[in-house]
Amino acid sequence: MNPVIALVGRPNVGKSTLFNRLTRSRDALVADYSGLTRDRHYGNGELGSKPFTVIDTGGISGDEQGIDAVMAEQSLLAIDEADIVFFMVDARAGLMPADEAIANHLRMNQKKTWLVVNKSDGMQEEIATSDFWTLGLGDPIAIAAEHGRNVSQLIEHVLEPYPEQEDLLHPELDNDQGIRIGVVGRPNVGKSTLVNRMLGEERVVVFDQAGTTRDAIEIPFERRGKPYVLVDTAGIRRRKNVTEAAEKFSIIKTLDAIKQCNVAIVVLDARTGLVEQDLHLLDYVLSTGRALVLAVNKWDGLESDAKEKMRSELKRRLGFADYADMHFISALHGTGVGDLYPSITRAFKSATARWSTNRLTTLLQDAVGEHQPPLVRGRRIKLRMAHQGGSNPPIIVVHGNQVDALPDAYKRFLINTFRKVLKVRGTPIRFEFRAND
Ligand code: GDP
Ligand code: GDP
Repeated sequence: MNPVIALVGRPNVGKSTLFNRLTRSRDALVADYSGLTRDRHYGNGELGSKPFTVIDTGGISGDEQGIDAVMAEQSLLAIDEADIVFFMVDARAGLMPADEAIANHLRMNQKKTWLVVNKSDGMQEEIATSDFWTLGLGDPIAIAAEHGRNVSQLIEHVLEPYPEQEDLLHPELDNDQGIRIGVVGRPNVGKSTLVNRMLGEERVVVFDQAGTTRDAIEIPFERRGKPYVLVDTAGIRRRKNVTEAAEKFSIIKTLDAIKQCNVAIVVLDARTGLVEQDLHLLDYVLSTGRALVLAVNKWDGLESDAKEKMRSELKRRLGFADYADMHFISALHGTGVGDLYPSITRAFKSATARWSTNRLTTLLQDAVGEHQPPLVRGRRIKLRMAHQGGSNPPIIVVHGNQVDALPDAYKRFLINTFRKVLKVRGTPIRFEFRAND
């Protein structure tokens, strides 16, 4: 499990600037609770072979009301989820009353806290930090998020107690117990109900204590003699009401489950339709390259025109994930749940398939024969050889010359051709182009 760093502080101290510097924002996942201008943002970063997760929050101003109060609430949730807190203050503004209010809160909290003085560019460190010793949160550390001053030193220092991870997660290497299935989705879409269905009711009691820890929980099970591991985020429990479900929803667990699984089942709710958070989640699954099965839940009791409308909306808006099978299910009644398995198996097989260099190169040459890459500055782009560079997701490495000039349309043609011929379904497929000239 990656260490999780929460960035907290007044608005405008530079939290999002630091967040962007620390994370590849492509992976950012947003916990958006409707109506908020700024929610919790989650992103992954890496220092050498140490991965970490960063949570950015809207900020705490010290005297919250209305929307500000909700933003402050988001910061408190982020602190709860984190292992490490970066309390950020502004060297240029100096110590503000709101900083003291936040410091009071953090002192009561047991989380490891670092006092980070931002915007110290053009200032001597002692001068930048001098105001902040009185906060009583240890030595203030001067950085400049915008310019990168001291940022990697800070991270290095903070991550010192955490071990290196030589192999940054290759779950395909660890399938001895069977395909690892992650069930993810926003609160209340029916994850727990689905998980209970998949495991069979009698298992529920055994795992009733689950959901108390931050990590996603792994549950091995068998179906028709075949082993699987369910990576559960919902926590199998009987809940009283909807609010509790929303409170228990943890983005960190969700990120964890996605990383730990071979195949992610993203659960959507046919009653509410697609919302932003569904799309963020799908985006995240896509960026991690996990195999994907879509389960549109609560399909029971819908009128037929509502079904039709939902089908076409999903088709229109989820075009970017059209490589994934989509199932219309009722976790409550069990309808369609069994049909998920063939899709899971197929996605897993596609994601972990191995193809020889010979086969891939022949396929590449056939594709090029059918449709030549364009000329660039009078020279034809040449694609000579292809080999497999990884799996789950499959990575195809193509060697040639002038590959930097290869148009996107041609790359799409290659991806589609390879996908069709290799019968890859349910997983993204990635191409890397290497120049030999
Ligand atoms: P947030 O509200 O805490 O997320 O703050 P932002 O990241 O949006 O930054 C607020 C302002 O401070 C922006 O105009 C940034 O460009 C500026 N800023 C952020 N980091 C630095 C820094 O290291 N030095 C200086 N001089 N300005 C910074
Ligand atoms: P989670 O927060 O995603 O784990 O959602 P739950 O499994 O707790 O389900 C949320 C609510 O939706 C509960 O009241 C369930 O009974 C209900 N629900 C779950 N699946 C279905 C379904 O297939 N059909 C209908 N009608 N309701 C469902």
